[in-house]
Amino acid sequence: MCQFCGVDPAFAAYFDDPADTNNGAEEQQQQQQTEVTGASNGDAPAPNFFRLKPTNKRYQAGGRITTQQLTTFGSSLSTTSRVIMGHHGQAYNNAIRRWSKCAVKRALAVVMVTSAEDVRKTIIMCESHGLPFVVKGGGHSPGGASSIENGIVIDLSLMTETFVKADEKQVVAGGGALASHVIKAAAEYGLACVTGSTSHVGIGGLMLHGGYGYLTGEYGYNFPSLAVDNIVAAEVVTAKGQIVWASKDENPDLYWCIRGAGNKFGVVTKFIIQAHPVASSVWGGSITYSGSQVKEVVEALNTWFAKHNVKAAAAVALGKGADGKAGFTVLPFYDGPEEDAKNNFEPLLKLTPTAQNTSSMPYWKINTLSDEPNLYAGVPIRFASANIKPQLDVDHIRTALERLDQLYAEEPNASGTGSLILMVQPDGVMKHKRTDMAFGWRDDHFDVGIAAVFTDRNLEDKMVAWAQDFGEYLSSRGDSYRLYANHSDFNGPSAREYGINYMELSKLKQKWDPDNRFAKL
Ligand SMILES: Cc1cc2nc3c(=O)[nH]c(=O)nc-3n(C[C@H](O)[C@H](O)[C@H](O)COP(=O)(O)OP(=O)(O)OC[C@H]3O[C@@H](n4cnc5c(N)ncnc54)[C@H](O)[C@@H]3O)c2cc1C
Repeated sequence: MCQFCGVDPAFAAYFDDPADTNNGAEEQQQQQQTEVTGASNGDAPAPNFFRLKPTNKRYQAGGRITTQQLTTFGSSLSTTSRVIMGHHGQAYNNAIRRWSKCAVKRALAVVMVTSAEDVRKTIIMCESHGLPFVVKGGGHSPGGASSIENGIVIDLSLMTETFVKADEKQVVAGGGALASHVIKAAAEYGLACVTGSTSHVGIGGLMLHGGYGYLTGEYGYNFPSLAVDNIVAAEVVTAKGQIVWASKDENPDLYWCIRGAGNKFGVVTKFIIQAHPVASSVWGGSITYSGSQVKEVVEALNTWFAKHNVKAAAAVALGKGADGKAGFTVLPFYDGPEEDAKNNFEPLLKLTPTAQNTSSMPYWKINTLSDEPNLYAGVPIRFASANIKPQLDVDHIRTALERLDQLYAEEPNASGTGSLILMVQPDGVMKHKRTDMAFGWRDDHFDVGIAAVFTDRNLEDKMVAWAQDFGEYLSSRGDSYRLYANHSDFNGPSAREYGINYMELSKLKQKWDPDNRFAKL
């Protein structure tokens, strides 16, 4: 009887595989092979909990485990953890749900872990049964980097415990924490951490692979400025099932790797993040302009940016406006009082927007303004990566708007498509050398995320191609080689996601994950 739902797994139709008639012989052979391989790798012998004789012959195609074994395995984990399988109905559907509908994949099982030890056991179980696995933090990768068909999801969503070490101004957060957990915990101490501009994104993906946010410019002035730069230490479960710390003093090479390429080197079960003081009230919101104002808006953005005020940042969204044409929504941010903010943003505020909704608010709140209800976008979305070197060029942006208009006209199903240019002062990003950590894009370019949003799933291939093409166009005024992994969605090529650090990463991959148990480089 399943410990989770009371259903007898033997009747779980989802796992039935009529083609399988080998009575478990294949699995036993697989187990033997795994033991041999494990021994030759010098791994410690695997614990007994998964060395279970198959009790039925229902295997998932591509997998080597039975529902019974998964159920028994689940009972070896912490009492708060769960193993969710297809026969769990709605609980399973919830467990494989993702921010983008494109990322929903039918996993063999979702292991909702609650400790590093649970993660370790799951990795060893997967190794023993020859099962592929992925790690899920906040589940926001639109292309499905945290979901898998017929494999195991190590789901960190229950590992969100977050607290502040006030003396050190550090936030300790579980590997599955969302930006909102970190921001809210820090806010109680007048502190903030660099996270992205949306509060329900997982810090796992965001911090380990870069992490541009409103505070990137300001913190860069005195402190490290990308989210990844603020990882002081991390507890990591490795491909071999070891639980280790990675910091400048412990396993410094692993620390180097996870800061930029975390999903390829281990499961981070705990982050120690440097926090910094933030004003009790910041200013922001949204200001909308029509596409016909492109010249004045781009010139105003350039004038504003040239003031080089590190307290200010702006996310500039290009997307469909109320008039049905591509236009601008500027999300301004200022870490300070409204009066100073309005002075700073004067070049933009003196234009005539089509809509404006700005005010002072606590820092945690500004990160919720772009949130979706219930953490899910509810539609298929794919991402692409681009970048633009300051200053913005009127003709370049005008053509970008025209390309969007052309798409809206051709594909009414893709009218949510757009892109976001994050304008932050680059001082702090460039404070690090390119080789200080795996994340090596230490330049003065604006990061640009492209979101292809469509209602018809059949458009996915076409929209991915469109988004990449649009990204190449935008990056023609930037570094056209550079890909930001959080926006290229880990689809590579890795050499472009890691640039100068790719060779060193390849070498260290051989040390920490020679069998590519985690995402490939
Ligand atoms: C609405 C939205 C807003 C965004 N805003 C910003 C922004 O302002 N700035 C910015 O820089 N980016 C932004 N992004 C991009 C975002 O940083 C990436 O999508 C990020 O990878 C999502 O992380 P996640 O943990 O939610 O996703 P997941 O899909 O869970 O994970 C993404 C990858 O990271 C791995 N991973 C996650 N957690 C861990 C962990 N603890 N240990 C090891 N590997 C792990 C997964 O295996 C997967 O490969 C945004 C994305 C969305 C959808």
